[in-house]
Order: sequence, then structure tokens, then C-alpha cells
Amino acid sequence: MAVLDRPATDEQLVNERLEALLAEHDPKGTDARTFLGAQFDAGLAWVHFPEGYGGLGVSPKLQRVVNERIAAAGGPNSYWRNPIGAGMGAPTVVTHGTEEQKRRYLKPLFTGEEIWCQLFSEPGAGSDVASLATRAVRDGEEWVINGQKVWTTLAHLSRWGMLVARTDPEQPKHRGMTYFVVDMQAPGVDVRPLRQITGEAEFNEVYFTDVRIPDSERLGDVGQGWAVSLTTLMNERVSIGGAIQPKGSGPIGEAVKIWKAKGHNDPALRDELMQLWAEAEVNRLTNIRASQLRAVGTPGPEGSTAKLAFAELNKRVYEFCLNLMGPEGMLYGSYEMIRPETAMGADSLQKAFLRARANSIEGGTSEVMRNILGERVLGLPGDVRVDKEPPWSKVPRS
Ligand SMILES: Cc1cc2nc3c(=O)[nH]c(=O)nc-3n(C[C@H](O)[C@H](O)[C@H](O)COP(=O)(O)OP(=O)(O)OC[C@H]3O[C@@H](n4cnc5c(N)ncnc54)[C@H](O)[C@@H]3O)c2cc1C
Repeated sequence: MAVLDRPATDEQLVNERLEALLAEHDPKGTDARTFLGAQFDAGLAWVHFPEGYGGLGVSPKLQRVVNERIAAAGGPNSYWRNPIGAGMGAPTVVTHGTEEQKRRYLKPLFTGEEIWCQLFSEPGAGSDVASLATRAVRDGEEWVINGQKVWTTLAHLSRWGMLVARTDPEQPKHRGMTYFVVDMQAPGVDVRPLRQITGEAEFNEVYFTDVRIPDSERLGDVGQGWAVSLTTLMNERVSIGGAIQPKGSGPIGEAVKIWKAKGHNDPALRDELMQLWAEAEVNRLTNIRASQLRAVGTPGPEGSTAKLAFAELNKRVYEFCLNLMGPEGMLYGSYEMIRPETAMGADSLQKAFLRARANSIEGGTSEVMRNILGERVLGLPGDVRVDKEPPWSKVPRS
């Protein structure tokens, strides 16, 4: 669309594109991939991304208008199918990728044609991900990867993985890492399921044995892996805790439903329900405010606030739901190991209760969120970090 054709306000532009998208592609009748492809081409995938990359270069707060309208019309949602790609991969690629990488990765990521996973955590590096040990050694125009990652959500379905590896062990830990996009179907990539408390294996351990990555699939400069990772991590927190759902919906909506269905009328339980409802609404409004303040789309520490509040509240809400269910809360469908098609899903309150235990671990633990908020927002003295300056190779590790 020529610049002269652009309507007077960004809001009008988004609305015009939205109307045209819905008129040309029946959201219920069009297959998900085609609809999402058209949404991407209309610049309505991530409205704050530049034009040509699934966006319109407008404020991210307008994305809510798009998402709500498409959901109300029964259209598909990219996040459901590809939560890690859409929530974390895309902002990382658009911020740090080359033109070629943006053109190659973004559209099939949004349509769900290519699922993404995040290869950060290792057996010896979780909260302190910068201490990771997976090695990448340059060999001409390629890098050779050896090491192990763990807790890799949806690796079993993924085409691409966001991989951080150590390229210079003689640098201090934050400076010797590089970020790559790795083809999960390349020879030497071994994905093995890990079973969760729910019985499902939503995540995996991933072994790399002499896996070759072309240098063209490096994201950001050599040695800049930490800076690139921060973009992924900041977006991960918002992706987990920053969703803005309609008032009274989501987990708290489930609690109200079960309260009504069971005919509860106990004043103490009602008081507890109201307390949880009020907290859920405070979190929702805080997330709306945070998303509106986010001028250019890269989240700051408010992502950690959202993630912390979401994780802790979610656990309490589902615990409350199970209390309301009484003995029925102990009944569990099946512990048969399945490999889900998406992350963080649950088809029963019992499963949601168990799955919620992971909320305060995944995407950074609640303790780590509190550290971030203490240090970066409140300006409190930092943790003691004796391993920050010496070369990574000189730091003792188990
Ligand atoms: C369901 C689920 C999905 C996940 N998906 C992915 C994924 O797709 N990709 C990926 O890379 N990772 C993934 N993870 C891993 C997740 O990011 C890590 O589990 C998390 O960062 C914590 O690391 P850890 O498990 O090694 O625990 P540790 O870092 O060993 O922590 C153990 C305990 O020590 C506490 N602790 C650690 N450091 C501090 C500190 N400085 N101050 C105070 N307390 C501290 C922690 O809070 C925790 O209670 C997933 C985890 C879960 C549960």
C-alpha cells in the first residue's frame, strides 16, 4: 500500500486492514494456515513490526484490537499452535535478524507451518543460563555444535530452535556466547521426551552431536548471544504472564464456573473467591497498562512483574478450584504419556492444577523474578556474583 493511501490515524489503518482481511477470508471457513498467511500479509500478525514483516509499524497496543476481533469472529490464533515461535522467536528475529532471516523465518512461523522451540536451559544452567556449556566451534562457513539442552518445550514438533551456545570459553560467561537458529531436523539432533507431573511430555531433552549450522543461521554477532537472549527472555515473560484476556475469563472464570456448578454458598469460600477475582482483575489491568506503555514493543521489567504475578496467582486459583471440587478433584483422567501439540494446555481442572505447578519455574522462577524486580526496579543491592568477571573456563562447575 502506498504511503499516500495510508489513512489519517494508525487506528483507522489497522481497522481498515482488519475489515478487508475478514471480508476476504471467512475466519471460520478458511483453513488456519491460509487465514494466518493472509493476516501476516495484511500486517496484522504483530502490528508493531515493520511493514513487510507481518506488521504496520504502529503501536503494539493496537494488536489487542486485532486479536479480539479475530477471536470473536472464530478465526485461528498463531500463539496456540506455535507459542514459543510467535511469542519469543518472532520478536528476537525481527530485532536481531538480517533482512534475509526475517524474510525466511517470520511468515511460516506465524502460520504455524514451522514450529519453534527455545534451547537455552541445560542440566547445569537454568536460572543462571549464562553459565551454559553447549559448545559451538567455527569450521569455515559453518559451526559445529556439541552439548545437551533440557526442558525444551515442543522440540518434538519443531522445525527451528533458538540455540545459545558457548563460542569463546576464555571470555567471561556473558561475553562468550553466540545465538543461532538451528534446524531441528539436522543430522546429530536427538530429541527425547521428558515426562511431566501431568503425565504428558510437553518438553524434551535435546542432544547435539557434531550438528552443523551454517553461519548464515547465526542471529546477531559472534559473542553477542547474551544480548540477543535477553530479547527472547523479556518476551518470554510477557508471553507467559502478560496475556490480556476478557474480564473474568481464564483461570478465575473457571473458578467462578465451578463455584456456581457446585452450588457453593459458604461465606468464607466466597470471600476467598472474591479475593482471587480481585487479584486476577488487578493483574489484568496492570497488563493492559504495561502493554499500552510499551512504546516500541520490547518489554522491560514489567514483563517480570506480570510473570511473577501470573504464576503465583494461577497456582492459588487452581488450588481453590480443586478445593471446591472436593473428592472429585482427586480423579484424574489418565497418566498415559502423550506428546501434546501445544504448550500449557489442560483439558480438565485437575490437569490444570498440576500443570500450574510449573508456572513458577518456566520462563524464570519466581525467586529469580523477585531478584530482577529488586535489582532493576527497586534498585536494591545485587546478588553476589563471583563468577561474572573471570573467563568461563576458569569457573568451577559440577
Ligand atoms: C514446563 C516447563 C517448560 C520449560 N520450557 C523450557 C524451554 O522451552 N526452553 C528452555 O530453555 N527452558 C525451559 N524450561 C526451563 C526453565 O527455564 C528452568 O527450569 C528455569 O529457568 C529454572 O532453572 P532450573 O530448573 O535449572 O532450576 P535452578 O536454576 O537450578 O533453580 C533451583 C532453585 O533455586 C532457585 N534459585 C536459583 N538461582 C537463584 C537466585 N539467584 N536467587 C534465588 N533463588 C535462586 C530457583 O528459584 C529454584 O527454586 C522449562 C521449564 C518448565 C518447568
